[in-house]
Amino acid sequence: MNIELEIFSPVHQITNPLFDTHGVKVYLKRDDLIHPMISGNKWRKLKYLLKNAQHQHKNHLVTFGGAYSNHLLATAAAAAKFGFKSTGIVRGEEVDNNTLFLCKLHGMQLIFTDRDSYRDKPAIFAHYFGDDENAIFIDEGGASAEGALGCSELIDELTDTYDHIFCACGTGTTAAGIINGLTHHQLKTKFNAVPVFKNGSFIKNEIDRFLTAPAEYNLHTNYHFGGYGKATDELITFVKQFVAGTGIVIEPVYTGKMMYCLYDLISTGYFKPGSKILAIHSGGIWGLLGMKDRF
Ligand SMILES: *Cc1c(COP(=O)(O)O)cnc(C)c1O
Repeated sequence: MNIELEIFSPVHQITNPLFDTHGVKVYLKRDDLIHPMISGNKWRKLKYLLKNAQHQHKNHLVTFGGAYSNHLLATAAAAAKFGFKSTGIVRGEEVDNNTLFLCKLHGMQLIFTDRDSYRDKPAIFAHYFGDDENAIFIDEGGASAEGALGCSELIDELTDTYDHIFCACGTGTTAAGIINGLTHHQLKTKFNAVPVFKNGSFIKNEIDRFLTAPAEYNLHTNYHFGGYGKATDELITFVKQFVAGTGIVIEPVYTGKMMYCLYDLISTGYFKPGSKILAIHSGGIWGLLGMKDRF
């Protein structure tokens, strides 16, 4: 089977009086529209991993994530679509939630693992699937050089140039891929990474390990809102206002933090008037369901 998705990810301009005041133009790259389940950057990261699995005649994808992982869901849905079996190793005690329900709906087998054992993923893989010659290890979040390669293709799709690109960061694979794409096309666009974790400066090592050439980029580490999966009322209010004001759904775990960062920087005059800014909508809107009670 040919492992391809037709990429539908248009660039949409968004407007706000704040942008006019500061003389900037803001655009969104709609990777959220690529697929409802294999969302945004998760498809880009999986593409070459799946091609690789197919090439090696491995038909069982084994991967890792937390109970709300967009990557687990994307892997489950991509496996179903392209004829693979899938297993998700889930961090922590057995739970049920909307994300895991959707994983199971797509036929993913789930194995829950305590947080200590979860740290050694190759050992878990060997324990359960050491004898399964059809099984292939895919790292948490799809973090890999193949993942970065898929993400670099986002830059190939652009028909305009921008002064800045903004993207939310978890493993840093998407960021690395986009930076590689900018390097490849010799673009002067400044890349801005917004880690969604506390103490986000460690992400630099993660990004740098998948870079094809050394590169300068900005890290905005003050927009974690308490840490991964955490949110403040201020962030929730921002997400609500953004969705109600644009008709574009974002969520508080990734894209909400990235957009908040962007709006905050605009309001403090961070950008030169005339700047064109592209924000990546990396998808993941199912994450909203896990935070319903905060709204
Ligand atoms: C997983 C995810 C990210 C993080 O991507 P990395 O490549 O792990 O940095 C960003 N945004 C959304 C919506 C995600 O689901």
